[in-house]
Amino acid sequence: MNLIIMGAPGAGKGTQSVRIAEKFNIPTISTGDALRRAVREGTPMGQKAKSFMDAGQLVPDEVVIGIIKDYLATDACRNGFILDGFPRSLPQAEALEAMGVRIDAVLSIEVPDDAIVKRMSGRRVCDCGASYHVENNPPRVADVCDKCASALYTRADDNEETVKNRLATYHAVTEPIAGYYASRGQLIRIAGEGNVDDITERIFDALKQIEA
Ligand code: ADP
Ligand code: ZN
Repeated sequence: MNLIIMGAPGAGKGTQSVRIAEKFNIPTISTGDALRRAVREGTPMGQKAKSFMDAGQLVPDEVVIGIIKDYLATDACRNGFILDGFPRSLPQAEALEAMGVRIDAVLSIEVPDDAIVKRMSGRRVCDCGASYHVENNPPRVADVCDKCASALYTRADDNEETVKNRLATYHAVTEPIAGYYASRGQLIRIAGEGNVDDITERIFDALKQIEA
């Protein structure tokens, strides 16, 4: 199964994509995680991406298109994959199509803006890609990752000012791709508020129709 998961920053893409990946035994690639790794490692790509990320803007299309192209060429995604946070602009969606990649469904996790801003202050993440919320989705031990036992931290771009920029960018540049996939009959809108397990259920229910 080849999936895309999209949604505003903090809508729960990361949390849900980990669960989908486990259930269907397919890998997930998060362009945000890949970029943060490059920033940590100080690679040329990381150096280029950092200022955009700190400002809450998208990094240039060619950078993330390159990440995805390399990834989709690997054996790991032969039996399917989840793209978390890509594509995020029409040129990225068109580039994916031009690669000849078949997409089975695009999940759009929908959360109103005011709920997003509230959620972000409680978000804690791990370098392994796991993501938590102090109230809605707490780790078993405070500030420790359930999956790998590393220390959790607050992302540098999760401050209120940057979150507002990321939301504005989402509405202006990313949301239009929902229409792009809807017109191809591939868009599945998922209500992204409420209990994390309930949202996962909604996603699994929706995906039953794809599998059948
Ligand atoms: P969120 O969805 O919570 O904003 P991500 O971890 O997906 O977080 O992305 C963090 C940042 O990485 C984005 O604000 C952006 O700067 C950059 N980024 C991630 N994916 C893309 C993409 N497909 N295109 C451009 N920039 C991206
Ligand atoms: Zn971890």
